[in-house]
Amino acid sequence: VTTFNGRKVALFGLGGSGLATAQALVAGGADVTAWDDNPDSVEKAAAAGVATLDLREADWGAFSALVLSPGVPLTHPKPHWSVDLAQQTGVEIIGDVELFVRERRSHAPDCPFIAITGTNGKSTTTALIAHLLRTSGRDTQLGGNIGTAVLTLDPPKAGRFYVVECSSYQIDLAPTIEPTAGILLNLTPDHLDRHGTMQHYADIKERLVAGSRTAIVGVDDSFSSLIADRVEQAGTKVVRISRRHVLADGIYAEGARLMRAHGGTSTLFADLADIQTLRGAHNAQNAAAAVAACLAVGIDEKHIVDGLASFPGLKHRMQPIAKIGEIVFVNDSKATNADAAAPALSSYDRIYWIAGGLPKEGGITSLAPFFPKIAKAYLIGEAAPVFAATLGDTVPYEISGTLERAVARAAADAARERGGPVAVMLSPACASFDQYKNFEVRGDAFVGHVAALEGVTMLI
Ligand code: ADP
Repeated sequence: VTTFNGRKVALFGLGGSGLATAQALVAGGADVTAWDDNPDSVEKAAAAGVATLDLREADWGAFSALVLSPGVPLTHPKPHWSVDLAQQTGVEIIGDVELFVRERRSHAPDCPFIAITGTNGKSTTTALIAHLLRTSGRDTQLGGNIGTAVLTLDPPKAGRFYVVECSSYQIDLAPTIEPTAGILLNLTPDHLDRHGTMQHYADIKERLVAGSRTAIVGVDDSFSSLIADRVEQAGTKVVRISRRHVLADGIYAEGARLMRAHGGTSTLFADLADIQTLRGAHNAQNAAAAVAACLAVGIDEKHIVDGLASFPGLKHRMQPIAKIGEIVFVNDSKATNADAAAPALSSYDRIYWIAGGLPKEGGITSLAPFFPKIAKAYLIGEAAPVFAATLGDTVPYEISGTLERAVARAAADAARERGGPVAVMLSPACASFDQYKNFEVRGDAFVGHVAALEGVTMLI
């Protein structure tokens, strides 16, 4: 990024995307001084050729900006010391998304930029949009909160499309964000530890759509719905999406049917019923947003419809990984608490459910409405006895202990079932740390055990 060419920049936060950001700034001619509270990160940055100095000892009068990692507290529970120093000396505070936004503005202001935020479904929607753009033959860059730091993407140029997932932290640090299409999927209380109040959290998210040429807003929760009205009154073009209501204008889901409404008339846009990777009402919301975004940046309808059908899904998130006859094996390892397991359980009708791991407070009592769909549960890890107690007499279960045994037992039981499709699903409602390093390793282990089953056809 050349935005700070020849100028001095302070950078705090060298974990995650921080180091990549520092290197991009240096490559663009900035004079970067970087620091982190973690000595290991500082050492790593220094070894990578980035100048490091405890910013408490720096001359802040010389800095043009403080570039902050999204993980570092800006306001809540209290500003980080580097934020205090920047504010005391009048140095602006920005993040990597803002650097990208400025780079795009000065080099290729017309290249389509789609930004996605919301409490849930960001990564799925981001990946789906990138997939739809790619399958329509567009040069597509995918990054942001989903994993690839925006500044490591190929640089903005005419005809190149950007799909960027933005956490509220990243929006907070991007004061001039102005996407071609900005998506706010939904807003529910989350991350309030970092943002203080729900209103503040909503205000941050609102800025993303308020700055968009086309604002795409999920109107199924009251906060987002109010935001849609407000942004529209301010003169921004708004496309509403819903998975709960029929809309007069916008994109909404009626079951698995994605409808496009205009002036009170609705037409079927796409039927998601047979798309395994887009099952469930939550995915209908994600698909509606993705469709609206692609239409907003000029992708033709046929390409979008075709692309929906070939979406491979995201790893570890309700991902259909294999089949044996009518049994589908689903990896939902990302579901590390009961709330996160709910969408997967609601999306299948008959489930051989592998659950457990390191239990979280509240256990699985909130999942009781789904218990009638569970043919049998296979409990693993430390949570097994607690989960068993919750299932009690209402759901058949066994304590399998390990994932390997659970897969073998569930597959064998499911194979004995005759009549209709069933799912063998890992949706653990638990953290993985008692048995695995993280949810990715747990999901990969599940895939490995399933791949070893006799007669299996892998879908990935
Ligand atoms: P995020 O990136 O916002 O964390 P993901 O796309 O990674 O979201 O999805 C994580 C989990 O959140 C999914 O496995 C699913 O359980 C749930 N989810 C996905 N989309 C939605 C949605 N639109 N509304 C509510 N929950 C969702």
